[in-house]
Amino acid sequence: IHALICAGAQCLAAGGNGFEDALKEELKKHDLTEEVNIVETGCMGSCQLGPLMVVYPEGVIYTKVKPEDAKEIVEEHFLKGRPVKRLLWRQEEKQFPTLSEVPFFAKQTKIVLRNCGIINPEDITEYIAQGGYEALAKAITEMTREEVIKVVKDSGLRGRGGAGFPTGLKWELAYKQKSDTKYIICNADEGDPGAYMDRSILEGDPHSVLEGMAIAGYAVQAQKGYIYIRAEYPLAIKRLEIAIKQARASGLLGKNILGTNFSFDIELRMGAGAFVCGEETALINSIEGKRGEPRKKPPFPVERGVFGKPTVINNVETLANIPVIVGKGASFFRKFGTEKSPGTKVFALAGKVNITGLVEVPLGTPLRTIVFDIGGGIPEGHTFKAAQTGGPSGGVIPAEHLDVPMDYENLPQLGTIMGSGGLIIMDETSCMVDVAKFFLKFTVDESCGKCTPCREGTRQMLNILEKITSGNGTMEDLDRLERLGNVIKLTSLCGLGQTAPNPVLSTLRYFKDEYIAHIKGKK
Ligand code: SF4
Repeated sequence: IHALICAGAQCLAAGGNGFEDALKEELKKHDLTEEVNIVETGCMGSCQLGPLMVVYPEGVIYTKVKPEDAKEIVEEHFLKGRPVKRLLWRQEEKQFPTLSEVPFFAKQTKIVLRNCGIINPEDITEYIAQGGYEALAKAITEMTREEVIKVVKDSGLRGRGGAGFPTGLKWELAYKQKSDTKYIICNADEGDPGAYMDRSILEGDPHSVLEGMAIAGYAVQAQKGYIYIRAEYPLAIKRLEIAIKQARASGLLGKNILGTNFSFDIELRMGAGAFVCGEETALINSIEGKRGEPRKKPPFPVERGVFGKPTVINNVETLANIPVIVGKGASFFRKFGTEKSPGTKVFALAGKVNITGLVEVPLGTPLRTIVFDIGGGIPEGHTFKAAQTGGPSGGVIPAEHLDVPMDYENLPQLGTIMGSGGLIIMDETSCMVDVAKFFLKFTVDESCGKCTPCREGTRQMLNILEKITSGNGTMEDLDRLERLGNVIKLTSLCGLGQTAPNPVLSTLRYFKDEYIAHIKGKK
């Protein structure tokens, strides 16, 4: 019997450790420690139903398990082969489905999350057993740097941090720079409210990111990498530290990797909680020990990045794709997604939806499929009103666009962006002006203050929104909001300010009537 217990942050926060201890105790009592193999895995995805445990060979899913459930599970399921039905994932068509029968899992396509919820992230041998580090070995022993860059270019992989810049092109630009020192940075400063894709990847499969970084290092001739990770992610940091140590001990990081003349090592740098440090030039400043403020571009980091040297900055999800692309080839990767947006995207599905959690789908999947087929629809008989994508930099998708393909081409046409993957669902009870105010308040708090349009302009927009929601707004305020928002977008120095007005502009576009209702005292 294999019992996979989720040891992702949410399941641990819900008491997963206590359950695991109690289960081990019961197994000991019944002399079953040899028969039942307990594996602590990373996030399985359906966080709201945790702590989760999947038991094989049946593949049944235990949800919301508590320490007091351990005795019954051992005595009934492990000893008599009768799964404890009251604790199992339930669904109408088939009362107690296995993992592969639950639409939430079955309708996903896992490339990035391929190992999350399956392997023990603290054991490098489990990653290797799944084919881990084969792509690195292939790259450094069988491929030239140009060939590695070509396969990434051919795959069409676009940066998953938000901007969607072609990864292969970024690598090529860095490769062409003449410098004896170059760097790879993994941007793990995930800060959007409601987004936790990168944390879950790092907690559940840290080696996939290390391998992606090492391949990037080989491709552009960098010998050192930094993972810039927020200090609020202690579990991800712990697992990365373990993974780096194990990879070094296995000759997969450090000097002369796998006996070749390629050397590459990785260091962790902790961010101190500033949202703006997710912006690549502010992140570079922070690594250099300076104040985390964005710099003017150009020069771009591929020309002059950290410590003035050419630097490739990719986010966690982008790097986790790399071993698959190099290992299986560009055409394999292109089987998923669309022509211009190949591959998959991980979304953090949250808000007014039946099953919240991590969802990975091919790019171009309609929003409706994610919300209704995978997420199980809107709870308690309510109706879908809108989805917010791209966090504080994005906008809303109203119900009339529920069939929009979720990709880098279609979302901007609706006035929003893909962003890093935050996906917050709202029902008819949500006030869209409050939603816009929430996100704008976030960017006002997080503005670094370096440039006036962002520092002062977003504050003024928030003042107007507060005036409107307190019932003192006028119709002229709506014009002011729109004009100010557009000026801030055009004149701010970095992406934070350039996108900060989006939630307001987007809700004004689709839900102006709600602003007017506030002004006319009808809300
Ligand atoms: Fe700082 Fe905002 Fe200007 Fe960016 S746009 S540099 S966050 S003040």
